[in-house]
Amino acid sequence: MAESKEFREQGKEMVEYIAGYIDTIEKRPPLAQVEPGYLSKLIPNAAPQKPDKWEDIMKDVEKVIMPGVTHWHSPHFHAYFPTGNSFPAILGDMLSDVIGCIGFTWIASPACTELETVVMDWLGKAIGLPEEFLAEGNGKGGGVIQGTASEATLVSFLAAKMKRIRKELESQPDKDQYDVLPKLVAYTSDQAHSSVMRASLIASIRMRSLPSNEENALRGNVLQKAIEEDKAKGLIPFFVCATLGTTAFCAFDNLTELGQICEKENIWMHVDAAYAGTAFLCPEFRYLLKGVKYATSFNFNPHKWMRINFDCSAMWVKDEDDLVHAFHVDPSYLKHKHQGAVKDFRHWQIPLGRRFRSLKLWFVLRMMGIEKLQEHVRKAMQLAHDFEKLVLSDSRFEIVGSVILGLVCFRLKDSNEINEKLLKEINNSGKIHLVHSTEKETYFLRFAVCASSTEQKHVQYAWKIIQELTNSLLNGIPPSI
Ligand code: PLP
Repeated sequence: MAESKEFREQGKEMVEYIAGYIDTIEKRPPLAQVEPGYLSKLIPNAAPQKPDKWEDIMKDVEKVIMPGVTHWHSPHFHAYFPTGNSFPAILGDMLSDVIGCIGFTWIASPACTELETVVMDWLGKAIGLPEEFLAEGNGKGGGVIQGTASEATLVSFLAAKMKRIRKELESQPDKDQYDVLPKLVAYTSDQAHSSVMRASLIASIRMRSLPSNEENALRGNVLQKAIEEDKAKGLIPFFVCATLGTTAFCAFDNLTELGQICEKENIWMHVDAAYAGTAFLCPEFRYLLKGVKYATSFNFNPHKWMRINFDCSAMWVKDEDDLVHAFHVDPSYLKHKHQGAVKDFRHWQIPLGRRFRSLKLWFVLRMMGIEKLQEHVRKAMQLAHDFEKLVLSDSRFEIVGSVILGLVCFRLKDSNEINEKLLKEINNSGKIHLVHSTEKETYFLRFAVCASSTEQKHVQYAWKIIQELTNSLLNGIPPSI
């Protein structure tokens, strides 16, 4: 049988399997109910010498793989933040897989670079970013797709470092970068995602974790004080990472206050809006974006809430030279005749290789349109508020922080230990999946509206499970579901 003939048949079967998986996902336990090491017991310990049969492989998908899958797209999955999924994104990724180009330079696949540039402008406009972040027009702005928000933070952090070193050396030509490096200091809040501190560990550059206020936001006065202290010690403040939609509470740093300080002190401000960024598709949530005009770089993950399958992290800068000059290497095998006149995304990221990820973004934007994506955001917000009301209707519980987007943080008005026990029971039930966080010594549960198929009935079901397990935990009443 010719290879493509087989592929056509198997491909149809796979599409059927994929569609069936999504249609029936609700019936699977959202959290995998297996123990570590379960899988190696189910498959041979070496690869087959001769091809296995397609039918046997597909049987093993159900037997070996699915029991160990945590189903992030189940409407009963309420852990972490959402991860995106949609048939248009899968179709776009299929096309990307078959083209299989490595678009590190423009010439390595012009469509890969050009589509990415255009759809990043589409997306930037759709979320209301200032024009300076766009590639169209005469400015130096533009967007690039990174794999993750962690990479976007790292890239901006390293680029900010190089920019500051170059600036310092302009006035101290007798010094080199190794004289400046130990003096650099960056800032973020104690609510920032762990990847921000990790960027400083990777780069071996000092970063201070500044205290957030009672609303879990970083305010300007705290940053200003830290900058003054550090300047008095002879240090050089060069980078701030602000967060819109923090991981634990979905809280928002005060971008305007932080940004004005960064502008005055000549500090690079990176904005990490990994989860919350998708909400800005809806004009009514753009008040949360206020102050973004001060940002040097901005990032959010369409692969979180925007129905795009992992990986697709959208990053914009106002001045592409900040990236291009930061990590410049120019081996002869990568040179091409249009170099300098076109974008070569290899300068904008850590790895050399890059997939054609803009295809899935293009497919989703075209097949769903901004309006469908807005509906998706508004529905999740509404469901989060529905859940919040249910929590508030039971006097044994309290809400922690504020419900601003699709995340509800809540706890029993009881000890951390009881809340911990409740979460354990919830996840052991195999019916819904939630995770916790601990901030300022308070343990709480996080309920995120994740799958696009989540409806009000799923929210009510989740609440029923939580209440019944609470009755059992506090009063010994056995759960009925
Ligand atoms: N930043 C924030 C605010 C997040 O909530 C997360 C993950 O949830 C990240 C960064 C990390 O995202 P990624 O896995 O794309 O690096």
